[in-house]
Amino acid sequence: MEKLEVIGEVGRGSYGTVWLVRCRGLSNTPHSTPPLVLKCVELKGCGVREVELARQEVAILARMKHPNIVSYKGSFEEGGRLHLLLGYCEGGDLHTRISLQCSSPFPETTVVRWFIQITMALQYLHHHHILHRDLKTHNILLTRCGLVKVGDFGISRVLSSPRDLATTLVGTPYYMSPEQLASRPYNHKSDVWALGCVLFEMANTASSLPCPRLALSHLQGVEGKGRDGWGCFLVSSVVSFAFWSPPSSHDNPATVPSASQVLQLPYIRRHMALFLQ
Ligand code: ADP
Ligand code: MG
Repeated sequence: MEKLEVIGEVGRGSYGTVWLVRCRGLSNTPHSTPPLVLKCVELKGCGVREVELARQEVAILARMKHPNIVSYKGSFEEGGRLHLLLGYCEGGDLHTRISLQCSSPFPETTVVRWFIQITMALQYLHHHHILHRDLKTHNILLTRCGLVKVGDFGISRVLSSPRDLATTLVGTPYYMSPEQLASRPYNHKSDVWALGCVLFEMANTASSLPCPRLALSHLQGVEGKGRDGWGCFLVSSVVSFAFWSPPSSHDNPATVPSASQVLQLPYIRRHMALFLQ
């Protein structure tokens, strides 16, 4: 810890403070080392479950190597706190970025570029049988060069098999899928639902946080009025795709749509082909 110099605070989460730090003594020229993010999770007074979740976040992040997932640099426990060192995303989180956008919408190209990267991250996680379970704009980070990285694996869960369904009620209410609200098991389709909510939020800059049900009815209204723009179509497609077939304990995993399948949908492919080159 004494090798870390705190430069400032970058965020405050539910479990503690997130600091911008620099490693001292790694180089003769101290300012040449890139700054890192230090996420401190208070373990004192936490229940066994919270401590387990914090350690699980470390274990999951340490395994994840993907350009669209926040990079893990190391961790240590000291003074009753768990410390996680992460790559710094200079652009901050997407929620703040959206709130700074005021009333002008993001260009569709920006929304699509971000959406593809978030979907790629989700596809990678699901491929490794990891459910994020708290995908939301607060947990999506931007770098200086416009890369998007999914972070905050605090309540993520590794499924022991693709058939496994998570039953604990976790996550953020606005992003919760119908099956979560009904206390039914969570699987990777519920992450895809949250992805639809994120897309809706990005495409509806400066509007209030969408409630999935409201989002759906709103989008159906938009489609009914024949409004131009494939952005709405994409949003409604992803959202209603997740809505159309909510997971249940009787689901055959082979029929459960994954992020990669959503990406394979003809309309998504058609509009994204340009950006995937
Ligand atoms: P919590 O589990 O407490 O929600 P997060 O990991 O989501 O903690 O971090 C809280 C906030 O800190 C994020 O919403 C973001 O604003 C900021 N933050 C977290 N990690 C980074 C990072 N790697 N780079 C830049 N900002 C970050
Ligand atoms: Mg968070």
